Amino acid sequence: STAFLDVRDLRVHFPTEDGVVKSVDGVSFTLEKGRTLGIVGESGSGKSVTSLALLGLHKGTRAKVSGEIWLEGRELVALPEHEMRALRGTTVSMIFQDPLSALHPFFTVGAQIAEAYRVHHKVSRKEARERAVEMLKRVGIPQPELRVKDYPHQFSGGMRQRAMIAMSLVCDPALLVADEPTTALDVTVQAQILDLIRDLQEEFGSAVIVITHDLGVVTEVADDILVMYGGRRIEYGTTRDVLMQPEHPYTWGLLQSMPHIAGDVGQRLNPVPGTPPSLINLPGGCAFHPRCTYKGWVTEGRCTVERPELRPVVGTDAHIAACHLTARAKQEIRGESGNRS
Ligand code: SF4
Ligand code: MG
Repeated sequence: STAFLDVRDLRVHFPTEDGVVKSVDGVSFTLEKGRTLGIVGESGSGKSVTSLALLGLHKGTRAKVSGEIWLEGRELVALPEHEMRALRGTTVSMIFQDPLSALHPFFTVGAQIAEAYRVHHKVSRKEARERAVEMLKRVGIPQPELRVKDYPHQFSGGMRQRAMIAMSLVCDPALLVADEPTTALDVTVQAQILDLIRDLQEEFGSAVIVITHDLGVVTEVADDILVMYGGRRIEYGTTRDVLMQPEHPYTWGLLQSMPHIAGDVGQRLNPVPGTPPSLINLPGGCAFHPRCTYKGWVTEGRCTVERPELRPVVGTDAHIAACHLTARAKQEIRGESGNRS
């Protein structure tokens, strides 16, 4: 494989008493260094499970993983846990949604960053401590020489998120995965954290995956967007293409929930009416059909019986979407609902 990261037909299935939960069911994407991919979907879409598989965190669980994850020419799905462990932190690193769950309350922030460094580098405690101070400085923590001695609870929410980013980046990973990095933060701090991720990416030249339920979050930072539904890809393309010409009715729903389009932050809460599908028994045909208000535009009830293939969008290189609507029907729908994009 030539891409820096090349995920092919990834499947993550969990056996349960009620049946097999197909959290991720045939997902493929590629990513180059220096670029950011946004993976967007509501809870249960498979976006977080995809990211856990990238870090090999399913190993040792009952999850059945198939497909291929090529990272810098190495295949990760089949990699033994002890080899995967050596890659975590150094080659691929993760920023979790809740820094409090990732930072230990009984150790200072500095000690934890230093320890993350010492796991992979033969350095003295003093050198590791200096590295921790340097990282805190880089992520914009004021007075890092003092704050390095603080405990997590002495940091504000935004500062803890910064500290966790510092810990994730301390070994200079080639791939950084951020799962809902801003959800718990207020809007101003969210913007600062996204700016920070963007700056650090330029500085470190790493590849970044931002996982979020909020399409608005990734349009600011992502070069490409992958929209997931029910463990599958439903739309994938450059951010520009997906924003300029969204193809899937689910993406339309996500876009309408973006504040600068909807004009009202309060409308963001329930972007698409209805509930996420069961991952044990996905609806037949198009998995989105129970929630789709446009299936009447498709002839012969195809939406309920025939699963739409991912098809290239006419006039683009790499924009694909899975929906039975014809280009003409989409044009008419766009016309009816005003200038959507
Ligand atoms: Fe809606 Fe049919 Fe398209 Fe699915 S295939 S998104 S149900 S129009
Ligand atoms: Mg999640």
